[in-house]
Amino acid sequence: MKTNKSTKLFNSAKKVIPGGANSPVRAFKSVGLNPRFIQKAKGAYIWDVDGNKYIDYIGSWGPMILGHAHPQILKAIQQSAKNSTSFGAPTELEVRMAELITKLIPSIEMVRMVNSGTEATMSAIRLARAYTGRDKIIKFEGCYHGHGDSFLIKVGSGATTLGTPDSPGVPTSLAADTLNAKFNDLNSVKQLVSENKSEIAAIIVEPIVGNMGCVPPKPGFLEGLRSISSREKIVFIMDEVMTGFRVALGGAQELYTIKPDLTTLGKIIGGGLPVGAYGGKREIMEIVAPSGPMYQAGTLSGNPLAMAAGYEMLSILSKNKSIYKTLEKRSQQLVGGMRENLRKLGLDYQINRVGSMFTLFFTEQEVSDYDSAKTSDTAKFAAYFRGMLERGIYLSPSQFEAAFLSLAHSENDIERTIRANLVSLSSL
Ligand SMILES: *Cc1c(COP(=O)(O)O)cnc(C)c1O
Repeated sequence: MKTNKSTKLFNSAKKVIPGGANSPVRAFKSVGLNPRFIQKAKGAYIWDVDGNKYIDYIGSWGPMILGHAHPQILKAIQQSAKNSTSFGAPTELEVRMAELITKLIPSIEMVRMVNSGTEATMSAIRLARAYTGRDKIIKFEGCYHGHGDSFLIKVGSGATTLGTPDSPGVPTSLAADTLNAKFNDLNSVKQLVSENKSEIAAIIVEPIVGNMGCVPPKPGFLEGLRSISSREKIVFIMDEVMTGFRVALGGAQELYTIKPDLTTLGKIIGGGLPVGAYGGKREIMEIVAPSGPMYQAGTLSGNPLAMAAGYEMLSILSKNKSIYKTLEKRSQQLVGGMRENLRKLGLDYQINRVGSMFTLFFTEQEVSDYDSAKTSDTAKFAAYFRGMLERGIYLSPSQFEAAFLSLAHSENDIERTIRANLVSLSSL
């Protein structure tokens, strides 16, 4: 596979962009390769600047649930662009968008549009703090909520240890307000709550984790978070930036029938344009300016192009009830084939899947939290990733990411992927 042009671009990029990429994981560092520079994509396929074609399982990290360059979404963007690209004033489509979101996700009674998932989660915890008058938040080890200061924190050993920043530049004083619990471990949450009585503003969770690889919640875990939050007057935030409109039209909260107080959205909701949103109970959302005192704003929030793309995306998803069934069937086909390959090769690696998001973990242990995810052999994963890429399969370049299937992946694409999986695994 020729990669001259990508290599050349990467060398130029490194001189003017930190690490040569505008978001770290794209740089392919953990798999020991130079990134492929992408020229175009259509449906399930993506082409790099050297003309290599791949079956794409990143899908822009989630948004491309209908496949790339969907004609209806492109048309919506083009038509909207004719009327100018931004006004900084209210538009009709923002009202329609908010109405549609509140209809599809009933726990959201009011919603505010922002420009990214990061902005959504940052705003949601500010709101939870404003609403409760408390400062501390509980998050879970291995969950990712964007790059806001409060989230780039991990805890030392033992739940009582104060949080320490995960990144230079995050103030230690802020780190003290972020408490880390263990995913799928309600006791770790109960302990933090009792040690910080009436000090916790919010519990924020990825209801199905995508950002340590795909890790589903165990039965009772989300229910437990819901009831602890209600009892302790803590704002329960489901970060559905990845799972919203992905695992079901109404997100993970529909799948597991749990009603959070606030929800954060991103990725699919923008149809591939930069969009995020946070919303929830009216009583809480009414604190947001200008209706209330909690300040949050955005020059490009509710941008007409972004709203056109997102509204079209959500309209298509909500009008075609068969989409999620098809996604489930194809995902079953793919993961079933991969499991069969593992059996043939006598390998006991774990595959976690919920709907059209899944991860193959190079570990024999069940993966149910960050500690078990970290038992994966990342060197093996990197070799597997390179093998798949060489065979035209474009996976997330990290063991700790989910892969996404789109509606554009045909049975044929899936069969090809299963064959590439077998060869790549057997040549490790
Ligand atoms: C991607 C992601 C974010 C951050 O969204 P950005 O748009 O990248 O800022 C936050 N939370 C979760 C669960 C995500 O998957």
